Formats: sequence, structure tokens, C-alpha cells
Amino acid sequence: MERVLGRLGTVGPGLPTLVVVSGVHGNEPAGVEASREVTRALAGRSDRLRGSVVFLVGNVQALALKRRYVDRDLNRAWTPAGVAAVQNGPPDGGAAGASPAEDAEQRELLEVFDTVLAEAGGPVYVLDLHTTSGGGGAFSTVADTLRNRAVALALPVPLVLGLEELVVGTLHEYLATRGCITVAFESGQHDEAAAVDRAEAGIWILLAATGVAAESDLPELAPARKRLARDAEGLPRVLEMRHRHAVVPEDAFRMYRGYGNFQRVRRGEVVAEDRDGAVEVPETGRILMPLYQAQGQDGFFVVRSFSEFWLTLSRVLRKIGLGRWVHWFPGIRLHPHRPDALIVNRRVARFYALQVLHLLGYRRHEEDGDLLVVLRQNHE
Ligand SMILES: [Zn+2]
Repeated sequence: MERVLGRLGTVGPGLPTLVVVSGVHGNEPAGVEASREVTRALAGRSDRLRGSVVFLVGNVQALALKRRYVDRDLNRAWTPAGVAAVQNGPPDGGAAGASPAEDAEQRELLEVFDTVLAEAGGPVYVLDLHTTSGGGGAFSTVADTLRNRAVALALPVPLVLGLEELVVGTLHEYLATRGCITVAFESGQHDEAAAVDRAEAGIWILLAATGVAAESDLPELAPARKRLARDAEGLPRVLEMRHRHAVVPEDAFRMYRGYGNFQRVRRGEVVAEDRDGAVEVPETGRILMPLYQAQGQDGFFVVRSFSEFWLTLSRVLRKIGLGRWVHWFPGIRLHPHRPDALIVNRRVARFYALQVLHLLGYRRHEEDGDLLVVLRQNHE
């Protein structure tokens, strides 16, 4: 399989670029199929695009094997250290490394992204397509900046905030630090046909939302919106991440059957078992991404609906730049060395600290006893 599935439209000063990435996980072919469909459908009218769209495949080798990954998860090593490691690795494709397959995949992707970013004359948007091993609803996630949020909200599916605080090193978060406007879209269960349809719908909607295509040139747009809205009916518009149950292979984690995305769970409910016995949900909310496959480091997540009032409030607070004064709050001070960081003393600021800082666009970075370091999302 080729790395670049399609490339259509024009690059030029001020013109937007949309990069659609699929198959970063090799057992998630739905996005690849959707990308092929849209490439074909657009072929006859690419001269009408007002920007460009590039369709990329994430993990070529793992897709061929129909596995999540070959040596390591390709969506967990996009940290500054992880990127530097593959860039400085052996030039022969990384055969000497501990994870040669994904080192090579990551290196090739970096080269493609470098080229796309260098050639782009305007904003670069990234749509990262995924699917989940459990069933249930589709949803979007972002690194929580206002401009990422705005694009994510063009998709009429639940938006889950705060995942980036619990899952480190994702591709879409890395590309956000490179200045891209990014959204990840989970379009359904790995092998269901509907996951392909929803991923396709997501691409049509983003082509319009980014301005790469005019709405009037996309007869697919209205059905796409209707399709996603119908499947998301009754689900909250915005949710916040509350808990991640991390797993390692030695845990022998086994999720109980019958859980799906956004299913309600109560505090204390036993949803899985591992070698230590019952695994309980620590707080009432909705379950997300229950693990029903062999590979993966996330057993399940718990999310809770997040009122749109708070979404509006946080947009206002960020726009007026309240973050510039937040270190005057008791228990919060500027980091001595990092302009994008704050140090929070949780004994002093415990009641409001993380909630308020989330609203202002900060996220948890590291903890040391009572001290918490939070980082501002880039490109706010
Ligand atoms: Zn995935």
C-alpha cells in the first residue's frame, strides 16, 4: 500500500490545506477506505477546489498485517523525545532500533509532513481518522485550543475534551504543536461498514469547514451532516475526560462484554477483571473506548458531559486573555524557566485549580507531591 493515497487541488498563498490521515492503527482500515472513496469522488471536480487535500496512510506495515501495530503503538511516540529518536536513528530504516517497523513508518510520515508544511501557503488542517474496538457512538477529540475546537464542532458528533492530558504522544497533538489545526475522529467500530460511511461523512464536512471546497460544490455535505447527527442523537455535545484505566500486558485485563462508547456506568460498577480481580469504575459517568482487542494500553475511559455554558465561558476567558493574570490567583505562580507553564500549589489552590486552568487552556503536565505543573496549549 502506498503512503499517499491521493493529492488534489492547488497549493498557494493563503490557500488552506487539509491532510486526512488514516490507518495510524493498522487494525483500523475504515478511514483508508473512506479516503479512497472521497479521492475517487473528487477526481472529476478537483479543479474547483480552493485549496488542497492530501490523503495519507499512517501505519502501512501494520495495515497489511491487520494489526494495531507491529512493534509499538504508532500513536504514542509523537513526543519531542520520540520524534528526535526516530530522526536521529539509523538511516537504513531503523533496523537497529527496538521497534524497526514503526520507526520507519514514523520517519516517513515526518518527511511527508515536513514537505506538506513547507509547501502550504495557508493554514494546514489535519483530520486523523480512527475507529474503536467497542461499539457505540462516533466522537471527536482535540488538543484543546479554540481553533481546534471550532473545527471539531463542525462535526455533529460528541466532542471529548481532555483526552490529550491522559494519552501522551498522539500524532494529532504533535501536529498541533507544529502549527496545524487538528481533530481526531473516531468513526465507529473497527470492521463495521458504518465506520467507513461516517469517516467519509467526516471528510466531506471538513472539506467544507476548512474552506478547501465550497459548500455549493459538495452535494455530499448535507447527507453527511444528517448521517452523523442521526447517529449521535441523544448524546451530549461536549464531554470531558475524567479517568483512564491504563493496562499493560501483564495485567491480563479482560473487559466484560456488552459495553460501548457513551454507555452510562455508576461508580463502583465492575466492568472488567484482571489478575488482581474485579476492576471497578471510579466515578459515575459514561464509558469510552472499552478495550476489546489484544493490543492496547487503555482499558477504558470514563467521560462526563460538559455543559456548553462552560465551553462558552472558557472561550470568552481565553479571548480576553485572563491567562495573563492567572498567576495572581492564590497558589498559582509562573514557572521560572518556561513561559508556557505555571506551577500550582494544590494545597492552596485545590478547589479550583485544575478546573479553572482547563477553562483557560492549560493542561496537566507533571506532578510532584502538592505541586502541579500545567502547560498552555500551543497556538492559542
Ligand atoms: Zn486508532
